[in-house]
Amino acid sequence: MNPYLDDDLQALAETARRYATERVAPGFQDRDRTRVLDRALMREMGEMGFIAPELPAGVGGQGMGRLAAGVIHEEIARADLSISYINLLASLNGQILHEHGRPEIATPWLRKLTQGSTLLAIALTEPRGGSDAANLRLRIERVGDQYVINGEKTSISAADQADAVVVFGRTGAPDSGAHGVTALLVPTDVPGLTRNRFDCHGQRAIGRGSLFFENVRVPVEHRLGDEDRGFVQVMQGFDFSRALIGLQVLAVARVALEETWAYVAQRESFGKPLSAFQGVSHPLADLDTQVQAARLLCLQALWLKDRGLPHSTEAAMCKWWAPKLAYDTVHQCLLMHGHGGYDRGPMEQRLRDILGFQIGDGTAQIMKTIIARARAGRSAVPA
Ligand SMILES: Cc1cc2nc3c(=O)[nH]c(=O)nc-3n(C[C@H](O)[C@H](O)[C@H](O)COP(=O)(O)OP(=O)(O)OC[C@H]3O[C@@H](n4cnc5c(N)ncnc54)[C@H](O)[C@@H]3O)c2cc1C
Repeated sequence: MNPYLDDDLQALAETARRYATERVAPGFQDRDRTRVLDRALMREMGEMGFIAPELPAGVGGQGMGRLAAGVIHEEIARADLSISYINLLASLNGQILHEHGRPEIATPWLRKLTQGSTLLAIALTEPRGGSDAANLRLRIERVGDQYVINGEKTSISAADQADAVVVFGRTGAPDSGAHGVTALLVPTDVPGLTRNRFDCHGQRAIGRGSLFFENVRVPVEHRLGDEDRGFVQVMQGFDFSRALIGLQVLAVARVALEETWAYVAQRESFGKPLSAFQGVSHPLADLDTQVQAARLLCLQALWLKDRGLPHSTEAAMCKWWAPKLAYDTVHQCLLMHGHGGYDRGPMEQRLRDILGFQIGDGTAQIMKTIIARARAGRSAVPA
């Protein structure tokens, strides 16, 4: 129990946990091997109303709060972090399309997104760097009633599996920074767009890869937000996904802790349960405490968002703290399982899966800079 989750949200979480335990968890390790995101499962999640439930009913959502999205996200991630990418990408891209897309273009995509029949990716990072996100080079030129796209995006989650991508590119002068960036919705079956897939350490069912644009054309109606204002307007959606990522990785840490507490209570060494040794129980108690606290911070960020209150600082705190803490927690849990933890299995897969979030969606250094700017003032914390 906690102050952010009322009875309705608790009941929603229980339904999502039942579903995830029965339907998502069984394929967790297989999908790591096959590297295929299960589309049938995605459609099922859509039918259950689990994908982007915060979107209004008019575009296929449930009109629920962001906390509802958060509790569903936790339960899917607990079963398989790669599958919970479906929820993450849908909530992030769904918000962007709904707030910044033209209804006649965005609504059909949003309906398919919430039904679980389409997957959207988001492409910001380029080969020359991701942290300095506004300093991008992919070129977008307006030619009549179309935009022509040339360049490369890299390290994009679901690059080769997505049906459409929200792409950020430069419409302004090369030195226009954040003020010359435009966002577009680009279906992945357009001529001139090719993709590949990397061999990733974790998150293997969703995967990552590059997108290559060679004279790719989309109608101007596919623009998200205003021309040259894509970075400033559209990037605000990242505060939502940062809090969701926090809950996502902490859900993995929580299930690892549950399993490890049970394991150390029954496995014996020197004639006693492992948990009798403070060298075993205290590190777990330490991490368990921090995981509880970090989860409350993530829920608070979503609670603030639901009320339209500022939450960028809290979201940045979630994004640097939770992935590091979750990684340290699962690492400790793995060690507590002795040699068995090192075998191919759920614990080592969890460790591989969550590591990516110490980098993806912005590193800890970048998040701490966001926090420092909020506290000390932007001019006191130059890039
Ligand atoms: C699992 C995963 C999923 C991803 N998914 C996506 C996606 O879907 N879409 C997308 O667009 N991108 C995605 N990315 C890319 C990710 O957003 C970038 O990798 C990230 O922003 C860092 O950029 P970079 O890798 O180019 O590192 P760089 O920007 O080259 O930075 C390298 C190192 O230097 C540090 N550094 C850089 N600048 C500073 C500074 N000013 N102060 C202190 N330290 C600094 C960084 O923190 C980092 O440790 C994903 C990455 C991963 C690993």
